[in-house]
Amino acid sequence: MSKIDIKSMNLKELTAYVEALGEKKFRAGQLYEWIHRKQAADWEEMTNLSRELRGRLSREADLTILCQIDRQVSRLDGTRKYLFALADGNMVESVLMPYHHGNAVCISSQVGCKMGCRFCASAIDGWLRNLTPAEMLDQIYRIQRDTGERVSNLVIMGTGEPMDNFDNVVRFIDLVSDTNGLNISQRSITVSTCGIVPRIRELADRKLSITLAVSLHASSQETRRQLMPIAERYGLDEVLDACRYYFARTGRRLTFEYSLVAGVNDSVEDAVRLARLLGDIHCHVNLIPVNPIRERNFHQSERRAIMSFRTQLEKYGVNVTIRREMGRDIDGACGQLRRRKMREAD
Ligand code: SAH
Repeated sequence: MSKIDIKSMNLKELTAYVEALGEKKFRAGQLYEWIHRKQAADWEEMTNLSRELRGRLSREADLTILCQIDRQVSRLDGTRKYLFALADGNMVESVLMPYHHGNAVCISSQVGCKMGCRFCASAIDGWLRNLTPAEMLDQIYRIQRDTGERVSNLVIMGTGEPMDNFDNVVRFIDLVSDTNGLNISQRSITVSTCGIVPRIRELADRKLSITLAVSLHASSQETRRQLMPIAERYGLDEVLDACRYYFARTGRRLTFEYSLVAGVNDSVEDAVRLARLLGDIHCHVNLIPVNPIRERNFHQSERRAIMSFRTQLEKYGVNVTIRREMGRDIDGACGQLRRRKMREAD
């Protein structure tokens, strides 16, 4: 019999579970605090619960603690890249980025990814499974325990497509922003999607106050199709319509991610076309110099091309930033650390 996924339960569900065990209701609050606030790594830490209850929990419930396999710390900027093992032996990556306004963590939402974006290392070995809310939470909990510092910002931008694991991701967001838990403000949470249109609309209807980041990477449907297979399913126009809907429902400004690939999407004409496309959308564009992965033959745009791309967008009044590259001296791009470890294991 599989164990209960206790870390994925909200306080209400946990209360019902604890009461069904014949325990007093306030025990649920204590347990929730151990799991989500103190981020206990073991039942034995939960000293204000009876030994009997701890024993019962350890037999029936799974605390879902990830095991740190590797950690790389950048000497340049303090970025920390973690590789964690899940209970079934699969591995996921997470990254901590220290900013002056606080610590941001980037988590994975799936083991592998189905989306197959051409420049992305996570796509190469395909998709294995979804992560549970508990497995997403514990990436942050282990990092916070490792550094001893609070995580204040969260980006769901690691391996995986969050909108392809919709229910678990939404439950995770509810848990991580719960005032009784880690209490990360929803305004400090960003979810990045390659553009799964029906899920963007569904997310809009949930009216969370998170930021939605959409990976655009092209100013025309034709170029987008070359880079992102998902564009075959949902056209650029449909994606932008869903973005307008997201803003109308939530009032939250969108972020568009645009990875610049030399000779593919980085011309001045691309910039002008992009500015026109986004003209009526309340948004911010994040330019990402593509991080070349050794399995694919893509090159980073020249510094000059990146600068003039930005200048063009600014001319049209588009808010734009160039993403600062962090952790250049460690396995930087999404999925690279995991891939290296998997190769070593072969
Ligand atoms: N599946 C989600 C989130 C994961 S990827 C999404 O597609 O948005 C996070 C961002 O990094 C996406 O914009 C993705 O396209 C981009 N990305 C992935 N590999 C990259 C690389 N090698 N160089 C630059 N950007 C990359």
